[in-house]
Amino acid sequence: MPEFDLLVVGGGPGGYVAAIRAAQRGLSVGLVEKERPGGVCLNWGCIPTKAMLRSAEVFQTVSAAADFGIYADNVRFDYAAVRQRKDGIVKELTDGVAGLLKANGVTVIEGHARFTGPTTVQVREAGPSPIFTDGPRYAAAPQGDPIREISARDIIVATGSVPARLPIPGVDLPGVITSDGAFGLTEVPRRIVVVGGSAVGAEWASLFDAFGAEVTVVELQDRLVPLEDKEIGVALGRSFTKRGITVLTGSTVTAISEAEPLRVTVDGPKAREIDADVVLIGVGRRPNTAELGLDEAGVATDARGFIEVDDRLRTGVEHVYAIGDVTGRALLAHVASHQGLVAADVIAGQQAHIDYTVIPAATFTHPEIASVGLTEEKARAAGHEVLTAKFPFAALGRAKTFGETEGFVKIVAGKQHQEVLGVHIIGPSASDLITEGALAISLEATLTELADTIHAHPTLGEIGMETALAGLGLPVHIAPPRKR
Ligand SMILES: Cc1cc2nc3c(=O)[nH]c(=O)nc-3n(C[C@H](O)[C@H](O)[C@H](O)COP(=O)(O)OP(=O)(O)OC[C@H]3O[C@@H](n4cnc5c(N)ncnc54)[C@H](O)[C@@H]3O)c2cc1C
Repeated sequence: MPEFDLLVVGGGPGGYVAAIRAAQRGLSVGLVEKERPGGVCLNWGCIPTKAMLRSAEVFQTVSAAADFGIYADNVRFDYAAVRQRKDGIVKELTDGVAGLLKANGVTVIEGHARFTGPTTVQVREAGPSPIFTDGPRYAAAPQGDPIREISARDIIVATGSVPARLPIPGVDLPGVITSDGAFGLTEVPRRIVVVGGSAVGAEWASLFDAFGAEVTVVELQDRLVPLEDKEIGVALGRSFTKRGITVLTGSTVTAISEAEPLRVTVDGPKAREIDADVVLIGVGRRPNTAELGLDEAGVATDARGFIEVDDRLRTGVEHVYAIGDVTGRALLAHVASHQGLVAADVIAGQQAHIDYTVIPAATFTHPEIASVGLTEEKARAAGHEVLTAKFPFAALGRAKTFGETEGFVKIVAGKQHQEVLGVHIIGPSASDLITEGALAISLEATLTELADTIHAHPTLGEIGMETALAGLGLPVHIAPPRKR
């Protein structure tokens, strides 16, 4: 008899959500985790970065308080206190996850799991961290004798991802860090070069800039956040530049050498050498499958090492499922969680499958970015005849009262039926505003339906309606399109 109906390997937003759902469906569930519950998202990703970005935002707002008629003298920050606040939030949330697992009757097993067959794993003590001395961030290599052998009827692999390393000279020098290592910095570096201008790199750049560092971002593509609609990436680049961040797009870092203390060689249209105190490599993620023994289970991976799954999250091996970052589908916490719910339902015998059509995503830079659906380029490439509409936050009363007027919303819609295909936002509260776009695409709403929905005034949310009106050629609060 297997010990559990279901064993989940990895307790991130994919794994813990799957475990809870499966337990609620009546299965006996074990979960093996080698670090702390909550995974990258709660410990090294979504939550700690947003906690620190919020401190940065408060610092900037208070520094600009005079614009609001408020006077605050001698505004300063204490980076140790910023990190402490972040640690407190992380602890509260990870303790909360541990409590939820317990309350749902999930058996949590601490240690590093390795397959010994498709439905059996061996758990050993996780090895110590090569990066952190002040908290758990365990190395891939487990150590010691097996603590426990576990068998289960079904297994979900939810082991997530780890930062990718760049194959360039100098990446192992002290002071060259990944996003994980950035949490180990005890003070704001005076000069930092961020390699990679996608979500992770852009958020760290925004944070350190707000705290007064001299920041350079080097991005291979022709714009920042290259997965976003082109106009959004270009707008973020302009905004960063206006704030004093040096943005080098279409550029690569070819080497890092020891100098004062580090020298970064950048190749591209503005080739140069930059002296820096810290170099943060933020160029993507690789699947966390080291020492997992996927071969023992017979689970195949794609060329990049991600586990391939179908729309029911099944790997090619019966009884073995995979969810979250390790599947390489969309490296987002909410996608991992949704996959977790579906996988647990499938294992519990429900008719579930996953649909990736509507996946909102947000980047918490200043200004914020959020999007859902197709970019203009992707919509055209997919054969859609499109119309696009834009509305600036500067024309919105609520944005003015907030003192946050930078940015715009762009809607991509089908030309003939005006169905919403994509929504792209750069500006205040973009990450909250995007929900209306997700719902619009999900319900196959048209511009008319968005425009005819009464939105409360004065709110930032009005911008969805205003953009739709602009798309219909009937804008109220911006100049109408020129008559030919
Ligand atoms: C800096 C940063 C910011 C981010 N911000 C956001 C954001 O704002 N919004 C968003 O949606 N996403 C964000 N992400 C991405 C998000 O964190 C991931 O998509 C999400 O954590 C993936 O969840 P997961 O469950 O697949 O894996 P993970 O969260 O990586 O969890 C996997 C867990 O498995 C454990 N594990 C691995 N191998 C084993 C083993 N062999 N045995 C036992 N345990 C094991 C690990 O210790 C880990 O706890 C961010 C990521 C980073 C790095």
